[in-house]
Amino acid sequence: SAITTDMGTLTQEIDRFARDKKLEIETLKVREQYRKEFIGNVSHELKTPLFTVQGYILTLLDGAMNDEKIREKYLKRASKGVERLSYIVKDLDMITKLEVGDLSLKMEVFDIVELVKNVFEMFEMRASKNKITLTFDMDYSNPIYVKADKERIQQVLANLIVNSLKYGNLKGTTEVSIENLIKNKVIVRITDNGVGIEKAHLPRLFERFYRVDQSGARSEGGSGLGLSIVKHIIEAHDEKIYVESQFGVGSEFSFTLEKAE
Ligand code: ADP
Repeated sequence: SAITTDMGTLTQEIDRFARDKKLEIETLKVREQYRKEFIGNVSHELKTPLFTVQGYILTLLDGAMNDEKIREKYLKRASKGVERLSYIVKDLDMITKLEVGDLSLKMEVFDIVELVKNVFEMFEMRASKNKITLTFDMDYSNPIYVKADKERIQQVLANLIVNSLKYGNLKGTTEVSIENLIKNKVIVRITDNGVGIEKAHLPRLFERFYRVDQSGARSEGGSGLGLSIVKHIIEAHDEKIYVESQFGVGSEFSFTLEKAE
């Protein structure tokens, strides 16, 4: 009967081994599919600005070059296309690093209030161009120290604030606030009263390349990678990111950070 028991255990072992292998193969298949989709998306995203740039250059070579006004206009547009391409490539580089787990965080203690102030300064011009007011719902002179990768959190803030400007209403507001949570956490909120997002899109919003088709939004450029970069960075910190939005009313993106003692 000892032999029978051994045989039983062996059969179980073999079964488990087979199950594990099957799972491994499934995982590999999913990964392969993911990789294919990624490459497909990348080429699709690059194609549009590339064709645009090519179009302007060909038109210039076709004779438009002789008209000084048109020449300048087309060259500016071509340059905008190249700029867009370089943004996409930069974002792709970042997302690849994040997904491969190649991006180690440089944790440090810093004042998040000051960082918000710096990012506001970076986008002041752009905000006033869109007639959007940037407001900080706090006292600038009261520091709040957090422990995180400062450069990456700056990027998170920048991406969220840029979005609020891109999808904000003319004469709207973007407001940033910071609130203490329990357990040594703070929550940073970026709220706008812009176009808002329909409920159906919310679950997929942080996926890379995912974009809501909004008239005018595409002309603002962007790669559809901004929010997925934001999510990666926040999750690399073991923190959480949330979105709440009402179509036609506005959106609120928020994320948590660890407070420094
Ligand atoms: P994009 O490069 O298109 O801005 P993101 O990943 O940053 O890519 O955002 C994905 C999509 O989410 C955007 O295309 C836009 O439709 C929507 N979105 C992001 N932020 C906002 C916002 N503040 N208000 C309305 N829609 C937004």
